[in-house]
Amino acid sequence: MSFDINKYEPVIGLEVHAQMKTKSKAFCKCSTAFSAPPNTNVCPVCLGHPGTLPVLNKNLVEFILKLGLSTNCNIRERSIFARKNYFYPDLPKGYQISQFDQPICEGGHIDLDGKRVGITRIHMEEDSGKSIHDFASDESLVDLNRCGVPLIEIVSEPDIRTPKEAFDYLTILKQLVVYLDICDGNMEEGSLRCDANVSVRLKGAKQYGTKCEVKNLNSFKNVSDALEHEIERQISVLEKGGKVIHQTMTYDAKARATSPMRSKEEAHDYRYFPEPDLVTVKIDNVWREKVKASLPELPEEKAKRFIRDYNLPEYDAAILTQDRAIADYFEEVCKEVEVRSYKTASNWVMTEVMRVLNEENIEIEGYWIKDRNLSSLIKLIAEGKISNNIAKEVYQEMLAVKDQDDTRQHPTYIVKKKNLLLVSDTGEIEKIVRKVIEDSPKEAERYRNGEVKLLGLFVGKVMKESKGKANPQKVNELIISILG
Ligand SMILES: [Zn+2]
Repeated sequence: MSFDINKYEPVIGLEVHAQMKTKSKAFCKCSTAFSAPPNTNVCPVCLGHPGTLPVLNKNLVEFILKLGLSTNCNIRERSIFARKNYFYPDLPKGYQISQFDQPICEGGHIDLDGKRVGITRIHMEEDSGKSIHDFASDESLVDLNRCGVPLIEIVSEPDIRTPKEAFDYLTILKQLVVYLDICDGNMEEGSLRCDANVSVRLKGAKQYGTKCEVKNLNSFKNVSDALEHEIERQISVLEKGGKVIHQTMTYDAKARATSPMRSKEEAHDYRYFPEPDLVTVKIDNVWREKVKASLPELPEEKAKRFIRDYNLPEYDAAILTQDRAIADYFEEVCKEVEVRSYKTASNWVMTEVMRVLNEENIEIEGYWIKDRNLSSLIKLIAEGKISNNIAKEVYQEMLAVKDQDDTRQHPTYIVKKKNLLLVSDTGEIEKIVRKVIEDSPKEAERYRNGEVKLLGLFVGKVMKESKGKANPQKVNELIISILG
């Protein structure tokens, strides 16, 4: 492109829908289970039969309070529900219960690295059903299991300026909902859905440009890719002297382009009005404080504690606390090792454990090496019984035993079976050292004449001769004393 993209500043706001992990739906007792056969998790309430009344799920309120309190929102003492009216085959009631002008959480923020993104509001609503069009070309099917499944919508201020910031914001938000155990955070499966409002303006301009909404971004990567393309599209429209038209766009990941979906329905098109069937939600101090007290340690606090308690660098603490379950695993490993081995434990979890998680595409819950077995491996290194290289070999053997409770996964068992213990017997090592020195008389001479850097060469030869099993510390000491 020939124009200067740097003249412009993108302005981005995100709307994220998160499906809550409550067992039952938002306003009835139907199950929220994902894989049930179509139209089995339904009842007269979520099917919108006349004469039925919705009853609010208390867990949904507690879940949204947890997120609201963790993102520094003001909690409205009295909030109400509204009906969002629209006609669609997968919406049997003809309206969706949501919150409109009195949402339960408002005015919070999420801090990215060096940047604060405001949260305009977080509100509760229910999901619609699902239309399925791909069975036959001339018919559509409707599955209403998802009708009434509880969602919360998190609306950010237009504080985001780059696709990277949008990505970071989503990463932190996902981390939060997973830590709080209110949403499984799976974007690919639709538990987190993101729409983005994007506009561009000349740098320094006070007024926002005309925004477009990019809908249904179903992965983190799609969000930043779609934003990049939409920003470029809008800039190129402006550079050609045109005007950006307010419209809804979809992103085609294959074509790597955004295209218009339908002309934007304004909020008033939905004809919101207060839901007459539900009472006001009242949050008193006692309830709010009770939820506050139940909040788990959040990633930021956890990272600070890891730096303090395990004496870890900031980098390690940040990586280890990204996932609550990985952080727990690390702490379990540390319970069994000495203080001086905490950093070694961190290295093992960050490299060897996470490498396996990536390769196998699994979460730590599915990782099959027992924390206690990893602790034992680290203890063997700390006690000088095996070298780092041998530890890697032992680890490979451990990985091959998929059953956690199988004693063959235990490092001590493997070390014994494969005869991998380091040789610390001075007499045995001394024999090898003497042989190596005899075989390299010239180097020995040079070492004696002050070329001490040759020590490494001798150590290497001894280690090779011992097939990596000589205790390196002993080897060093012996070479120095024999040559010296
Ligand atoms: Zn129901």
